[in-house]
Amino acid sequence: MAVQPTRIGLAGLAVMGQNLALNIASKGFPISVYNRTTSKVDETVERAKKEGNLPVYGFHDPESFVNSIQKPRVIIMLVKAGSPVDQTIKTLSAYLEKGDCIVDGGNEWYENTERREKAVSENGFLYLGMGVSGGEEGARNGPSLMPGGSFEAYKNIEDILLKVAAQVRDSGPCVTYIGKGGSGNFVKMVHNGIEYGDMQLIAEAYDVLKSVGKLTNEELHSVFTEWNKGELESFLVEITADIFGIKDDKGDGHLVDKVLDKTGMKGTGKWTVQQAAELSVPSPTIESSLDARFLSGLKDERVQAAKVFKEGGELARIWKGGCIIRAIFLDRIKQAYDRNAELANLLVDPDLAYFDSYRRERLPANLVQAQRDYFGAHTYERTDVEGSFHTEWFKIA
Ligand code: NAP
Repeated sequence: MAVQPTRIGLAGLAVMGQNLALNIASKGFPISVYNRTTSKVDETVERAKKEGNLPVYGFHDPESFVNSIQKPRVIIMLVKAGSPVDQTIKTLSAYLEKGDCIVDGGNEWYENTERREKAVSENGFLYLGMGVSGGEEGARNGPSLMPGGSFEAYKNIEDILLKVAAQVRDSGPCVTYIGKGGSGNFVKMVHNGIEYGDMQLIAEAYDVLKSVGKLTNEELHSVFTEWNKGELESFLVEITADIFGIKDDKGDGHLVDKVLDKTGMKGTGKWTVQQAAELSVPSPTIESSLDARFLSGLKDERVQAAKVFKEGGELARIWKGGCIIRAIFLDRIKQAYDRNAELANLLVDPDLAYFDSYRRERLPANLVQAQRDYFGAHTYERTDVEGSFHTEWFKIA
């Protein structure tokens, strides 16, 4: 329990929240922390002790959490986007007062932020939607921050954000007020779309080097390490080099080869593509990377596709004439369904299997999933053991 009111509060102590709380505390700002599941509160306080007696104060109930913070209060939420954010706002609002400020640090859909800003303003609360990038390591040691919404709220925590953000020599702290409404979330969404594109580009380079060039993991490690010294120097190329250097702790060989080629996603890449389409902005790289993630996860969907495409042959027949998409190629589609009425998807018919990546048993999606686990602790599945795994890649690289 803090003797003095703390400077700020943070609710939601999963990967991002826990690390950001420790970062804030390590910059000298006493912080109150709260999480729905209280064991995470104790875990965070314990970690703060181990990492140098940082001023982190844990609370098991929302009322004492809110009351422990100096007024006007600022509370950062780092919970799952969507209804958990609404529920957390509801829980905290019961104890907040006029002038207090709520900051959503999650990857939220920007229109939700605009709706919430309006709703909480009726109680006199201020609201910020703040994109936080950098994953686990960034949250702990210096993320890039994209706050948008109430400028007054931004001013209330500007001193903290300037210290907590990554510091780049010659460029200063990686934070700036983005603008009104949901603009901070919008910018973070586009950032994540670019991240999807970058990761897929690297995965395809890996695919060519491995499948065509027959490079071993040791050689891939050297190539990416070399690339990271020149004009391609970047965080993603750096962690890719690391990934190729890590041995499997459960068996022989390298861990990257045991990661299942199924990439997860939480929605921001899809939102970027949807927004680009909505605004008629071409974004082919991001769209292709999203397709690649869909493809990587299609194993289970084929069962569903079998039902959807059952009548595909008949549609191909009636589209052969009259309609705008009439084409001789439709004959081959019809024949494919004649050969196998239960065809799960056209792309698996031998005559039509032009879409090479779809019929490949193994895609380079294992690398993308390894990268996601490396920077965001998103976990991965293995090819040989059931379950969900996390590796602290950056600690062993
Ligand atoms: P997460 O897995 O997205 O969310 C877990 C947190 O949400 C836990 O604290 C959980 O509480 C809480 N929560 C879930 N449902 C809740 C509910 N109904 N009411 C109250 N709390 C609820 O955690 P994360 O990976 O740390 O991400 C947090 C946010 O940051 C997300 O919006 C995410 O998209 C964004 N983000 C993540 C990364 C990353 O690399 N992981 C990077 C940038 C941004 P319990 O412990 O009680 O379940």
